[in-house]
Amino acid sequence: MAEYEVVIGLEVHAQLRTRSKLFCACSTEFGSEPNTNVCEICSGMPGVLPVVNRKAVEYAVMMGMAVDCIINNDSVFARKNYFYPDLPYGYQISQFERPLCEHGHLDIPVNGGTKRIGITRIHMENDAGKNIHSAADNASYVDLNRAGTPLIEIVSEPDMRSAEEAVAYLKELRSILLYLGICDGNMEEGSFRCDANVSLRPAGQKEFGTRTELKNVNSFRNVQRAIEVEIARQQDLLEDGEKVVQETRLYDAARNVTASMRGKEEAHDYRYFPDPDLIPLHLEDGWLQEWRKALPELPALRRTRFMEQYGLSVQDAELLTAERELADFYEAAVRHGGVPKKVANLMMGEFMRELNERRISVNEAAMTPEAVAELVRLQEEGVVSSKIVHDIFSDLFTSGSMPEAYVKAKGLVQISDSGAIETAVDEVLAENPAEVEAYRGGKTKLMSFFMGQVMRKTRGKANPAVVTGLLTEKLG
Ligand code: ADP
Ligand code: MG
Ligand code: ZN
Repeated sequence: MAEYEVVIGLEVHAQLRTRSKLFCACSTEFGSEPNTNVCEICSGMPGVLPVVNRKAVEYAVMMGMAVDCIINNDSVFARKNYFYPDLPYGYQISQFERPLCEHGHLDIPVNGGTKRIGITRIHMENDAGKNIHSAADNASYVDLNRAGTPLIEIVSEPDMRSAEEAVAYLKELRSILLYLGICDGNMEEGSFRCDANVSLRPAGQKEFGTRTELKNVNSFRNVQRAIEVEIARQQDLLEDGEKVVQETRLYDAARNVTASMRGKEEAHDYRYFPDPDLIPLHLEDGWLQEWRKALPELPALRRTRFMEQYGLSVQDAELLTAERELADFYEAAVRHGGVPKKVANLMMGEFMRELNERRISVNEAAMTPEAVAELVRLQEEGVVSSKIVHDIFSDLFTSGSMPEAYVKAKGLVQISDSGAIETAVDEVLAENPAEVEAYRGGKTKLMSFFMGQVMRKTRGKANPAVVTGLLTEKLG
């Protein structure tokens, strides 16, 4: 049986977070009443002229810079002609021969190291509207609110070799978009979406095999699964001596299969030509310099800095830098005096568990970085045990209370004072003479029994290390 190598290239569409659309002043807000954010331009009325949104260009260029693309001072908008009810113009305004950004690359984390994935190009285009099919009304509707929303399309080289690499690439791209603040990265709402091109070739062969393009993958998990089932499908075909047909396939998550949607169109089918309504886009060097200066520290750099500056492992640094707000929160807690490694543990444990359970983002949490730093300090100083930290965390997280005041008010401060603990220990030993004798006779398992009794007397607040010390001493 021949061994096959997997080849994957991704086309990612990211909606830019501008307030208005790419060529008109309509709002880009998601979830408005159908056809309320629409004007004569984005609904494709004849005789109107598009005007390009400067902010959208700035955002697209920032992304190009973030992945080391060459930024073309001059680029051209082109018409991509096709018919679909959600596209009233009869063409999409895109870029073809001279895109805004080209020849970039992105290093993705794989197996503790990195792998460089080529980025062919990043171009600008406008989004289409949405067709809504209603079974109840036995009718189809068109909502043009999304029509004209600015998009960038990020096209990768066919450099990925597994579903895992494809997902790692997507996560890294999404993280950069979020760091730049130019896309909300919401895959479910479709503001970050991807088409995956997949092919197989016999190991060692130079030429690529025939690819299929997978659409409709709207989560990282589905990207992974869709690519995996498509690989299996193509492998079966090839092993049976059949051919893969170049086509667009739709992923059905419920059944976990891909199904043919349409034959693959070629670029010449679209009759691309420069849009006569839009003059070539010219960018002054001064603007480019200004935008480059405004770039924030990006995830990859921040990750390595976290490892060096705070002594974190790759995995910890990856997790904490995946979102800019989380990384900012972490660094704020460290600045407030939290021991870096301890703050990391608390955040990746209790803190992220709360975020996930409540499905909220870091910004929405009532708990402050100061509170996290203070809680870590209280635990370090032995004021509270890890058990108490766990017990009170939810309360602190939702109320935003400061931990020190909270534990004092609730009387949860751990007792480390050996005088108070000694009284409790003595009482327990006096109350249980039979167990004491058994222990001294060799039944050392009874240690946990004594421990439990002391904890009961102190309502869980005795410092366990002190209790163990005293018990060992007195029973010995
Ligand atoms: P389109 O899909 O619009 O025709 P391209 O021809 O530029 O656009 O290719 C789109 C994507 O397909 C790119 O990300 C590219 O890396 C990828 N790709 C091209 N050939 C293959 C192949 N044989 N196997 C897997 N991916 C491929
Ligand atoms: Mg394509
Ligand atoms: Zn409009």
